[in-house]
Amino acid sequence: MAALKNQLIVNLLKEEQISQNKISVIGFDAVGMACAISILMKDLADELAFVDVMEDKLKGEMRDLQHGSLFLRTPKIVSRKDYNVTANSKLVIGTAGTCQQEGESHFNLVQHNMNIFKFIIPNVVKYSLNCKLLIVPSPVDVLIYVAQKISGFPKNHVIGSGCNLDSTWFCYLMGERLGVHPLSYHGWVFGERGDSSVPVWSGVNVASVSLKTLHPDLGTDADKEQWKEVHKQVVDRSYEVIKLKGYTSQAIGLSVADLAESMMKNLRLVHPISTMIKGLCGIKEDVFLSVPCILGQNGISDVVKVTLTPEEEARLKKSADALWGIQKELQF
Ligand code: NAD
Repeated sequence: MAALKNQLIVNLLKEEQISQNKISVIGFDAVGMACAISILMKDLADELAFVDVMEDKLKGEMRDLQHGSLFLRTPKIVSRKDYNVTANSKLVIGTAGTCQQEGESHFNLVQHNMNIFKFIIPNVVKYSLNCKLLIVPSPVDVLIYVAQKISGFPKNHVIGSGCNLDSTWFCYLMGERLGVHPLSYHGWVFGERGDSSVPVWSGVNVASVSLKTLHPDLGTDADKEQWKEVHKQVVDRSYEVIKLKGYTSQAIGLSVADLAESMMKNLRLVHPISTMIKGLCGIKEDVFLSVPCILGQNGISDVVKVTLTPEEEARLKKSADALWGIQKELQF
């Protein structure tokens, strides 16, 4: 084989080529695979590596992807149980974690996923000391705290997928109801991902026209048009999909690839993602919540100072207190 290759090709480089834009995905089931496909379709990496504890499934999924390699522009797709396969990653996406089981307490889920992280994170750090870590498993705002503690990484290098997806779904639904394209509707969902997230009604606008100024009851119980329902639909999106197909995967995969693109291409786009917010809104503890962050090659470089109403601030503070209540009980 080498003889024919040597007849055909003159090798000018003597040393092995190291990937410059490598992304690794830890946990390769529904969410990991959806992230992988979205990242592959965006051509974000020159190498994509996968790790999972289920060796045969991991190999099977990787082979399946490799067979379609010619339709993709990511030259190297690799997988292994051993974390050395992730060496020199620029970005590591953590999707390994269990979903909340029926009747399982929030704290139990955190503890369970924390135990998984205790194994994963030191291995990631060992092989990619300078990577950015993007955390997806639920409850993401607590697990990003866990990941940051275990990794010892700078806070701007540990990012939680947070409310990025919730905000875009909020815009989609509001745009649909208003009859404008969702990209022309500007709205944000901040805070804790899930039921306690905060829609920033005070800031929603179309072409700089504030909807709250036009319709002061917007987002309140007094609103006869009940626009508040849109946020309920945002919160319920996961429950609805899980009820229908058993899990969620595609939308979070697209959202994660959107964040990966901002980092890999140094776009400095503003995303509502989970970051350490100590010092904001009177929060004094090490808690992570979604606020608008500028995301680029160094992870989160800046946080946009949004003006919230006292009620919106109070809701963020309430989430922060609830998260700290869980975090302070965790045993590292
Ligand atoms: P899943 O249980 O189907 O898959 C998890 C994968 O992680 C499995 O393949 C498992 O083998 C692997 N894994 C477990 N322990 C591991 C370890 N120590 N090392 C390597 N791999 C390990 O879950 P899923 O449906 O793919 O979802 C993953 C996580 O993402 C869940 O926690 C889910 O709740 C969360 N999620 C978050 C969002 C969000 O918006 N943040 C959306 C959807 C799902």
